[in-house]
Formats: sequence, C-alpha cells, structure tokens
Amino acid sequence: MSYPYQITSLEQYKADYKRSVDDPDGFWGDIAENFQWRKKWDKVLNWNFKEPKVEWFAGAKLNITENCIDRHLATMGDKPAIIWEPNNPEDRVRIVTYNRLHKRVCQFAQVLKNNGVKKGDRVCIYMGMVPELAYAVLGCARIGAIHSVIFGGFSAQSIADRLYDAQAEFIVTCDGAYRGNKDIPLKSVIDDALIGNRTVKKVIVYTRTRTPVSMLKGRDVWWEDEMEHAEHQVEQNGVVSFPAEEMDAEDPLFILYTSGSTGKPKGVVHSSAGYMLWTNYTFVNVFQYKPGDVHFCTADIGWITGHSYILYGPLSAGGTSLMFEGIPTWPDAGRFWDIVEKHKVNILYTAPTAIRSLMGFGLEPLKGKDLSSLKILGTVGEPINEEAWHWYDEHVGKGKCPIVDTWWQTETGGCLISNMAGVTPAKPSWATLPMPGVQPILVDEKGEEVTKADEDGIIKGNLCIKAPWPAILRTTYGDHERCRQNYFATYENLYFTGDGALKDADGNFRITGRVDDVLNVSGHRIGTAEVENAINMHAGVVESAVVGYPHDVKGQGIYAYVIYGHMHNNDEELTRKDILQTVTRVIGPIAKPDKIQFVSGLPKTRSGKIMRRILRKIAEGETGSLGDTSTLLDPGVVDEIVKGKL
Ligand code: ATP
Ligand code: MG
Repeated sequence: MSYPYQITSLEQYKADYKRSVDDPDGFWGDIAENFQWRKKWDKVLNWNFKEPKVEWFAGAKLNITENCIDRHLATMGDKPAIIWEPNNPEDRVRIVTYNRLHKRVCQFAQVLKNNGVKKGDRVCIYMGMVPELAYAVLGCARIGAIHSVIFGGFSAQSIADRLYDAQAEFIVTCDGAYRGNKDIPLKSVIDDALIGNRTVKKVIVYTRTRTPVSMLKGRDVWWEDEMEHAEHQVEQNGVVSFPAEEMDAEDPLFILYTSGSTGKPKGVVHSSAGYMLWTNYTFVNVFQYKPGDVHFCTADIGWITGHSYILYGPLSAGGTSLMFEGIPTWPDAGRFWDIVEKHKVNILYTAPTAIRSLMGFGLEPLKGKDLSSLKILGTVGEPINEEAWHWYDEHVGKGKCPIVDTWWQTETGGCLISNMAGVTPAKPSWATLPMPGVQPILVDEKGEEVTKADEDGIIKGNLCIKAPWPAILRTTYGDHERCRQNYFATYENLYFTGDGALKDADGNFRITGRVDDVLNVSGHRIGTAEVENAINMHAGVVESAVVGYPHDVKGQGIYAYVIYGHMHNNDEELTRKDILQTVTRVIGPIAKPDKIQFVSGLPKTRSGKIMRRILRKIAEGETGSLGDTSTLLDPGVVDEIVKGKL
C-alpha cells in the first residue's frame, strides 16, 4: 500500500496546508481518489456553522469496511491487521490477518442480521479489549448499524443512561473482562443496566473469563453459537462473503459518548466518509506510518483514540495495529516495555497520565528492555508537562524518536493540531502546527480574534476552528440543538473547542487546558495546567491536580492535590514549602497554591483524565454533592481525599 498524500518535508507541509485552505474541494477531492467508493461524490464540501450543517462528499456511496478490509485482501490478505496481546503475558498472542479479519467481520455482520439488526439501528458494545470487540465494531459498520462503544468499566447507571439516550436495541458484551489482576463482570453490569429498560431486544455475549452469567431466554444469546451458525452462511466452498451495506457518505457511522469530565455525556455522532478520510490521513501523516510498521496505541477502544488509531486509521491504511487487553502496571510497571520488545513495536502512542505514572516507578522497569524497534512516540489526552516529555524522549525514545503531541477531541474525530513525526518540528509541551484543512484561531471572550502578542511574542486566547475538516462531529445524537449550543453558539461562525491555547510567533499552538480550568487569582488569569506543570517539576512529585476555590481576599485560591513519591525528609510541612519554592521559581509567587493536600491517587475518568469537577467540589467544601462518581477508575480515592481535606 502506498500513501501518495503522505507529507515528507516541511516545505510540502506548507504547500499542502496552503492548498487545503485555498482549495479544500480540490485538496480533499484528490485525497479521496485513494479510497474505494461505490459511487463518487457530487460535491466535496457543503457547510454552514449556523445550523450547523456539514456535508463532506455529498452523494457518494461507500462502506468503510470495504476500505478497511476488502481492498487489502488481494495483496495483504495474510498480513497481520491486528496483533493481540492478552492481559496475562503467559497467554497466547493472537495474530489476526486481514483474511481472518474479513472472515470474522462477515460472520459477525451475519450474526447481527440473524438477530434482526438493520441499517441505522444502534448497537451498544460493552466489551473488554479482545479482537472480538474489533469484529463487533466492524460488523456493525458492515451492515450499516450505528455502533456505540462504551468502555468496559462504566457502571450500570452510566450504561443505562447511554442506552436510553441512543435508544439502543442491541448489545454486544462479554461474560467478563480481565484487567491486571481483576476480573470485571461485564454481563452482570449489563443485566443491572437493563433493569427497567424497554428498548433492548437482544444481548450477544462473548465468553472471555468463564464468569457465571445469567442468560435470559429470548433475549440473551452466546456469541460462539451465533458465530458458528453464521459461518455456514457466509462461507461457501472456501469463499467468504457478506455484502457490505451501501452507505451514504453522510450516514452516521457511530455514536461515542464523551468522557464526561465536565457534565452530562454527549453522544457525539461521526459520519462515514469524512471520518474515514480524516483518520486515515492523520494516521499516515502524524505517525508517518510505513507499511509493515507495528503501531501500538495504548488507548481503549471505548475512547475515540482507540476508534481512530487502533481501528479505523490503521486498518484503512492496511497497517498493523497492536491491541492490548491489560494495563501498564501489571504484572509490573515494565509491561509496555515488554510489549514493545516482544512485538517489535515501531510506533508507541499513549497518554501523559500513563507516562507520569510510569515515571513514578523510576528507571528500574526499563532496565534490560530492548526498545530499539521504536521509531516514533506520541501522546494524547491532555497537555504533556515538559518533565514527562523529556523523560519519554530520553528513557523511552533514547533521544532518537520524534514525539508527536497530538491535540484533538472526541468531537474532532482525529488529530487537529500536532507535529508530524520527524517532518515538522517538535516543541516540548506544544502541540505545534495544525493539520492541513484545520484553521485554528484564538479569540477573546467577545469572539474577537486576539492578535496582540505579549513581550515574548505569545498570543493567548480561546481556541476555535474557522472551517470544517472532514471528521468534525455532525451532531449530538437525538439533540442537534445541544450540538449547536455547545460548539457553535459561543462564537458566531466558529467551532469552539472549549480549550484555551497559546500561539507563538512561528504559528505553534500550545493547549493550556479547558477554558473553564482557568483560575482568576487576585485578578491574574492562571491556567490550572500551568500550576500543575510547575508542581510536577518538583523532585518527588508524581502527579498533581489543581483547582480553584472561593477565597475571601484573592477571589479564587489555589488548591493543589499532590501525589508524592518518596518524601526524603519525612516532613510534610517542609515538603509543602519546598513545593511552594519550586512553583515560585517556575511561575512566580502569584501561582503558589494556598493549600496542598497529599493524596495517594487522583479521581480519574476511565480515559485517564482528572475529574476536576469532583476535586473542585471537595476544595469548595461541598462534599455532599459530588455528583456521579461511577465513571471513575477508582471511586475509592474520593473518600480518601474527602477525609484528608484541608
Ligand atoms: P468532556 O468533553 O465530556 O468533558 P473530554 O473533553 O475529556 O470530555 P475527550 O474528547 O476525550 O473528552 O478529550 C478532549 C480534550 O482533551 C481536549 O479538549 C483537551 O482539553 C484535551 N487534550 C487532548 N489532547 C491534548 C493534547 N495533546 N494537549 C492538550 N490537551 C489535550
Ligand atoms: Mg471535551
């Protein structure tokens, strides 16, 4: 497979960027020629941000699974599409070739059909990270059903809310999932989520952990039985086929609920053609993917990162994607490095929170691990602090792997601002330059473009995007007005990201965090991320989270929750003062936290994001109204933090 649209030099980036803005129809129309269509488009782009209404490749017909699977079969049928590393390193690795993927996806599409699923139906997928999850997702896409993957760790209540919002009629799940030394009883959680549910007709259950489960007659069926039956239907004389449903370019491909770190989850809807182009284009360019490379994205498929960079991006590019069932710290904190060595991983894509947590274990887990296969490293999910960036660069990349800091959102479908590995320059803790087709703009509270730089040449503002890129969200499921309100109503004719950013004189962007995470201390606006960055620079600090709380004098005070490693002086008070000294040196006395609470963990969403909403409530003393904490990775830390409140 070749990628004629792969950018290989800074000059080419500049030229392509310019053309993408001057002539988006020509630019994306040319790129689209590299995909497989049942019918070509009438128009590349129609849009307005008022309603909003965005259409890419209107009139075109396709099926994304033909692009992710079928078109590779002739030349790459026996090449690995997915390498699956089980939770337990002693268990058998599974290598899924494109031929095998094709067969399983066809079979599962047939299973869905046998169970009454039709084009446009919503299928909720609640599974662990097993290859069958990929078959389920792609099986839905094959028959045109809308998949909605829910991370295999959300509570029954969260699932019930999402099932209701999506009006889902079908569920695919597992008896259980392995994560580290835990077994998570997925089917039992689904059973709880279904109490009182009136829409779900069928639940398909894959056996992974052999956990005893209840199976309701007429509603619950076993994956294995269904697949066996379907095998005879899709395979005749050794030839496997299940005709893919012909989809309109703008037909919805999936719904994905955002992590909910800021409130009620929104069902972000992505369409077929634009999403396919964008995930492929950004995968090939940001990671500079070369055929044969092993790409290891450590995210869960329950998050957009897994959708775009474990499944659709790599597979549409005929790539090899490593899928990992377990967690980075089990059986020990060297697990990622073992996987890199074992599977000769070339590209490693993970989150700053994972990097910081592994940093906390020191260098011991890296000793003796052969990481020489690594060529490119990436991060996503939150701003990466400089210390973590340098640790990643030095100890994982050994100073020879470009690091891509990819800024994007569930709503954007794929990377919007990022360097391209080794092609455009990196700048530690800066996401750097926009992808072709992405036009970022920084605005002030009134929506006026900020053009005035400070004495260091830096412009500061709220990050918006001026025009649609192919994978912009199309709506929020069942509530288009909510989509308009959330993203398109704050500033006229702009998509508002909710994030604040800096821009330097070279046009590089640095994301400073959510706009609502900006503190106003004695009239000074300070990003929580800036303060955290400074605290994290202090020796011994593993991770920190900063929130504001009402302060009589300053308006807002700074409350810091700090995870500390080894406290050499055994003196909390002295350590607090040491941290204040560090913050003073790094930012200045204005950013000194008023309170520092030492904690053993932070409340994080399943995607690794700190739930500041909860920390803010605790800091404000409103511990009685913490809201829904069921989406947390470890709800137990909340009790500990409440008890230790200063
Ligand atoms: P919700 O919108 O429900 O609160 P969420 O925003 O946490 O959830 P995601 O779409 O997974 O859900 O995360 C996108 C956000 O993550 C971005 O808006 C940004 O704040 C942050 N982010 C992602 N990547 C980066 C990055 N490379 N640098 C800085 N921030 C990032
Ligand atoms: Mg968000």
